[in-house]
Amino acid sequence: MSTGKVRTRYAPSPTGKMHVGNLRSALYEFLIAKHAGGDFMLRIEDTDQERFVEGAVDIIYRTMEKTGLIHDEGPDKDGGVGPYVQSERMKTGIYMKYAKELVEKGEAYYCFCDKERLATLKSEVVEGKEISVYDKHCLSLSKEEIEANLAAGKPFVIRQNIPNEGTTTFHDELYGDITVENAELDDMILIKSDGYPTYNFANVVDDHTMNITHVVRGNEYLSSSPKYQRLYDAFGWESPTYIHLPLITDENHKKLSKRSGHSSFEDLIEQGFLTEAIVNYIALLGWSSDDNREIFTLDELIKDFDYRRISKSPAVFDIVKLRWMNGEYMKAMDADKFYEMAEPYLKEVITKDMDLKKIAGMVKSRIETFLDIKDHVDFFEALPEYDTEMYVHKKMKTTKESSLAVLEDILPILEAQEDYSNDALYAMLSNYVAEKEVKNGYVMWPIRTAVSGKQTTPGGATELMEILGKEETLARIKAGIELLKKEV
Ligand code: GLU
Repeated sequence: MSTGKVRTRYAPSPTGKMHVGNLRSALYEFLIAKHAGGDFMLRIEDTDQERFVEGAVDIIYRTMEKTGLIHDEGPDKDGGVGPYVQSERMKTGIYMKYAKELVEKGEAYYCFCDKERLATLKSEVVEGKEISVYDKHCLSLSKEEIEANLAAGKPFVIRQNIPNEGTTTFHDELYGDITVENAELDDMILIKSDGYPTYNFANVVDDHTMNITHVVRGNEYLSSSPKYQRLYDAFGWESPTYIHLPLITDENHKKLSKRSGHSSFEDLIEQGFLTEAIVNYIALLGWSSDDNREIFTLDELIKDFDYRRISKSPAVFDIVKLRWMNGEYMKAMDADKFYEMAEPYLKEVITKDMDLKKIAGMVKSRIETFLDIKDHVDFFEALPEYDTEMYVHKKMKTTKESSLAVLEDILPILEAQEDYSNDALYAMLSNYVAEKEVKNGYVMWPIRTAVSGKQTTPGGATELMEILGKEETLARIKAGIELLKKEV
């Protein structure tokens, strides 16, 4: 703040996969910092020991690296305001120190109420969750009582002291000034009985002591922000610029959840999406450029990202749109790189010795995700069972009879043909078509049907024949003849 340098942070709790919403927060924090030539920091918020998931920190590192959201500071890159992991910060005593400062100021108090007493408190439903509203019972404890309790080792928490009168106002860049009645705010816990700070307290202490200037998070935090504001005010600290992001919903306008099947970065990678396309798509979940452009590299996003263009309306995660975008990225991809990534998917379906690189080239512009490859290429491995109705094509003027006649006529020519390259086959068939004075499709359609057994294929007849080779092509043409003979 004082140096004027923009500093943002991504502050994930290591609780599992990288949810799309988390990735969006990380991306926006990164873009805001980089757009302004500032610093982007990673802070691990692991104070909720019950929600901690082994391996989740690795997922965070891996995802950030993969997506290119490279942090300038973090647990692995000291920038002088560490530690960058909250459980380690706790050991330095920082949270307790600041909590005690609030107690001194009358802005917080020790609470020794046990579970049994808390269970008798009346509860209120806040945002669908039932929470018990603390009745300030321990606020009236005398200094002596508090000291006696502490000396006796009685478990305690420290609560924020919020008056029942008056209002609190805070500012969000997108929502403007928000004012709430203090009576609506509960005396939230700042330090838990296990000595850990709550997220609610730690985020304020950390954002301030780590010189964070812009805080970007989901709008589920809007309702807690007045309480954070009161903490900043109590300490006499300047609060950061708040940017609360709109909810991300599924196609049914419900909060995007695991049930959708594509709520995390890992899900999307498993479903055959490209990292760059995922990042590009997620950038548009709540933000748009002023010219409504949609395809952006990360560098282009850095250049164009103006957070004032973030929308308040819920963002619908539209998998159809992501598929489209992914397809665009695949088309634009370098052929070798595409092959490298497509190879494992091709090998899953094709075990025979075939030119996989050529096949990859054929499907590149036809698929939207890597998982689509299978449906496009499985006929190379084995001729599928197919319906002879497929030989009937109005526009090509083909019937089952005409197809049988063409296949029978062409078979000896194909048997005599030595060169099975696409070019040679195409030249040969073009001559044939010219000689017979028929349309191209009249001949190509039945051949392509016979060699693929499919209505749509990633290439024309001769391209497929080149890949299949002479022996397999002839076997398939013969199989087609047999099939048609039964019906004609
Ligand atoms: N640890 C919080 C979370 O993962 C961070 C929220 C914030 O950015 O302040 O939801």
